[in-house]
Amino acid sequence: MDLLDRFRAWLDVSPTSFHAAAEAARLLEAAGYVEVDERAAPERRVAGTRGFVRRAGSLVAFRVGATHPAAAGFGIVAAHTDSPNLRIKPRPHLREHGYVRLGVEVYGGVQQATWVDRDLGIAGRVVVRDGQGQRAALVNLRQPLCRIPTLAIHLNRGVNDDGLKLNAQKDLPAILAQSDDKTAEPLRGLLAAALAVEPADLLAWDLSLYDLTPATVSGAGGEFLASARLDNLASCHAGLEALLASDGGEAAPTAVLALFDHEEIGSTSERGAQSAWLGHLLERLVLDVPGDAAGGLPRALAQSWLVSADMAHAVHPAFGDKHDGEHMPKLNAGPVVKQNASHRYGTEAEGAAMFQRLCEAAGAPSQWFVNRADLACGSTVGPLVAAQLAVRTVDVGNPMLSMHSARETCGTRDHAHMVGAMAKFFGGMR
Ligand SMILES: [Zn+2]
Repeated sequence: MDLLDRFRAWLDVSPTSFHAAAEAARLLEAAGYVEVDERAAPERRVAGTRGFVRRAGSLVAFRVGATHPAAAGFGIVAAHTDSPNLRIKPRPHLREHGYVRLGVEVYGGVQQATWVDRDLGIAGRVVVRDGQGQRAALVNLRQPLCRIPTLAIHLNRGVNDDGLKLNAQKDLPAILAQSDDKTAEPLRGLLAAALAVEPADLLAWDLSLYDLTPATVSGAGGEFLASARLDNLASCHAGLEALLASDGGEAAPTAVLALFDHEEIGSTSERGAQSAWLGHLLERLVLDVPGDAAGGLPRALAQSWLVSADMAHAVHPAFGDKHDGEHMPKLNAGPVVKQNASHRYGTEAEGAAMFQRLCEAAGAPSQWFVNRADLACGSTVGPLVAAQLAVRTVDVGNPMLSMHSARETCGTRDHAHMVGAMAKFFGGMR
């Protein structure tokens, strides 16, 4: 498989953050990375040791460099595994007018109108009774089960002038079945069958709806890639590919790939970018690597860099005025350096210059994004990790259209450019 095929396969098997972390673990294990239980007692981790730690939808991978991290620092790439979606409630079944619908909550900044009239599957994590205890299992019901139907235009005459307005409580519950049974719980039946357990043993879940359409290459010249969850599975995949492609040579610092859950809802969780988790793991690495650890984690971080990768807004052909004319990313024109005076992005001149040189060294173009000065700027994990760890940070990302739509679009040529730049970074170029 070439890079684009691997990217599409990654998108299609990762309907939720839990599945993305599981697939990342599978790819890492195939490349010789060993899963580490963070509850286990410390171990010696010599140069070249490859491992990863996982918490549900978050994963941190590392490759120990030739020089102790206290003396050479870390090279960290961070991205986020979660995407906006519709989250199924604990007691979701709504029975009205002969239909059974599933009640949902909105997770993150969903473009709600893009979720209607689509074939939706159901995926996530289910916790089931297991003897006297419990166990968690991933589930992916990859079949057209749910639908959020629009109202006919004849009953909603103003829709094209006023826009499609959806109330999250009343309008977003998705039809799952037709039944007049006032006790019907078809979701529980589907889950029990998929997990080969009794419906009564389904205790709780973290489940989402997702669009079943696979990632598709489109455009007259195959220049576009359309998929769900490009923000930010694209950056996660670029980081994984770069880590696996870069060698851990003499010049390479200890490489760290941090894939965080919960960015779309603010990163404040036990495994989000605003937690102490990554700092704890880096501290463990400094202690576990044999050699002179004088100065410990603060010394390591003082000479580390974070490349925070999250998707960027490409200019839209009908809305060029939404961009600053000199900072207007285009699809297939290379990775974007994102800067904001209020540090909604962590980029300053040194990091921006470094990333441009990383792209040059990889034979890739690069471009800038700065928001219009009269528009509020988005943010990402970069500034949060920068503040948590006191680490220098540059925020970057590939350009895309339709961010937070159920189906987003990016350029097919940009992915290889981002992988190349990140591989130079993991290889030790600064
Ligand atoms: Zn994002």
